[in-house]
Amino acid sequence: MTPDEFRRIGHMLIDWIADYHTRVEGLPVMSPAAPGDVRSRLPSAPPVDPESLDGVMRDVDEVLMPGLSHWQHPSFFGYFPSSTSPASVLGDFLSSGLGVLGLSWQSSPALTELEEVVCDWTRQMFGLPDTFRGVIQDTASTSTLVALLCARERSTAYSLAAGGMQSSHRRLVVYTSVHGHSSVEKAALLAGFGRENVRMIPADERQAMRPDALAEAIRADLACGSVPCAIVATTGTTTTTALDPIADIAEIARRHGVWLHVDAAMAGSAMVLPECRWMWRGIEGADSIVINAHKWLGAAFDCSLYYVRDAEHLIRVMSTNPSYLQSSVDGQVTNLRDWGIPLGRRFRSLKLWFLLRSEGVSGIQRRLRRDMENARWLSEQVLSREGWRVLAPVVLQTVCVRHEAPGMDPEALDRHTLAWAERLNRSGEAYLTPAKLDGRWMVRVSIGSYPTERRQVEALWEAMKREAEALQ
Ligand code: PLP
Repeated sequence: MTPDEFRRIGHMLIDWIADYHTRVEGLPVMSPAAPGDVRSRLPSAPPVDPESLDGVMRDVDEVLMPGLSHWQHPSFFGYFPSSTSPASVLGDFLSSGLGVLGLSWQSSPALTELEEVVCDWTRQMFGLPDTFRGVIQDTASTSTLVALLCARERSTAYSLAAGGMQSSHRRLVVYTSVHGHSSVEKAALLAGFGRENVRMIPADERQAMRPDALAEAIRADLACGSVPCAIVATTGTTTTTALDPIADIAEIARRHGVWLHVDAAMAGSAMVLPECRWMWRGIEGADSIVINAHKWLGAAFDCSLYYVRDAEHLIRVMSTNPSYLQSSVDGQVTNLRDWGIPLGRRFRSLKLWFLLRSEGVSGIQRRLRRDMENARWLSEQVLSREGWRVLAPVVLQTVCVRHEAPGMDPEALDRHTLAWAERLNRSGEAYLTPAKLDGRWMVRVSIGSYPTERRQVEALWEAMKREAEALQ
C-alpha cells in the first residue's frame, strides 16, 4: 500500500466510522444473523493475489454489518455498557498507526510515561489514595489473575522461586461471593488453587457478600490447617451491581493477613462521582483493585486499570530480565513488562488520554449521572405498574426486572421472561440480557451506552410493556 492509498482509504474509513455512529440508531440492535451466516459468505482460503481495500470495505458493508450486534447503539441495554467515546476511538487508531511496543521503557519512553500519568490521573479521579499505583491490563480477567498470582506468592514467601505450589502441604484458599464474576473462579483455577479451594461465600438479601459468613469460612479453613490466601470482593456485581461491604471485608483480610482484591470492573467508573464513593468505603484496605475503563467510563475496549498498594511485590512476582531487554537506564525508569503477564504492550494509554482530555472529568461525570438518572426513572416506571417488579436495589445504572403475569408457576414464569426478552431482542428495537437471580430468570436493563438519552429509555419501557403484556 502506498502512503497515498493509505491516506485515501484512511479518510474513507474515518468517514465510514463517523457515518456509522450517526446511522446506527436505524439499525437492528441485535444482529439477525443465524449461526454460520457470516462464515458462509467468506472464502474458505486466503486471497493469493493482492486485493483493493475498496473491495474489503464493500464486504464490511455487505457481509460483516448484518452479523454485528451494535454495542454503540443508543438502545443497547445488554450485558454492561462499553461506552466507547469517539475520542478514544481516535486514540486507539493512533496507537495502531504508531505501531510502537513497550517491551521496556527504552523501547518507547512515551508509551511508559503516558501510561504512568493517565493511571495516576484516573487514580485521583476515583478518589484512591496515592499509596496505589496503576497499570493498564487488557481485561479484568487478566487483572484478577495477576492479583491471585500475587496473593499466592505473598502467602508462600515466593514459592515461584523454589518448588512452586507443589512444595507446600498446606492448601491455599480463595474466597469470593456467590455473586462474584466467573473470571474469579477461572483465575483461581489458572493460578493453581484448585476448585476445591475456592469458597463461594453466601450473600445477603441485597446480593452482597456476608462478612460473618466470610469470617466463619476463614475460621473453618484455619482450623483444618489450610491457608486463607485471597479474598475477591466485588463493587458492582455483574448480575445486579450489588456492593460487597468492602470496609468489613478489608478488616477481616487485615486480621488474617489475607490478600484483598476488589473487582470493580463495572462499577469502578462510578467512583469519579464523589456521591458514589460510599459504595466502596474501606477501599484503602485493598491490596489490588481492577476497574475496566472500557466499560462505563468511555474508553474503547480493551483498557483495564489495575491498581496495587505494593508495586514492589507485583514487580517481584512478574519480573523477567533477559539481557536483550536490559538498558542503561533500568534503575531510573519503570519497565511495565514487570507489571503483568505479557511482555509486549500496546500504547493503550492513548485512548484513555484522548478520552480524558476531550471530555474532562466534568464531562464524564455528567454522562454517568445522566445514565444513573435514566435508571432511576425506569425503575420508578416499573415499580408503579401492576404486574412488574424491580428485583434488586438500583444503585447504579442497572435495573433488574420481572413481569409477573398472574397465575403463572415458577417454570411458566421463567418461560414467559425468556420469551418476552427474546421477542424484544428479535424486534431489533433494543437489546436486553436476561440472567438468573436466586435460581429464576429475570431481565437486566443495563443503561449507559454512549449515546443513550432518556427518549431511548422511554421507548424501551414502551417496548417492554408491549412485548411482555401481550404474552400473558
Ligand atoms: N468482573 C465483573 C464484575 C464484570 O462485570 C466483568 C464483565 O462483565 C468482568 C469481571 C470480566 O471483565 P473482562 O471482560 O474485562 O475480563
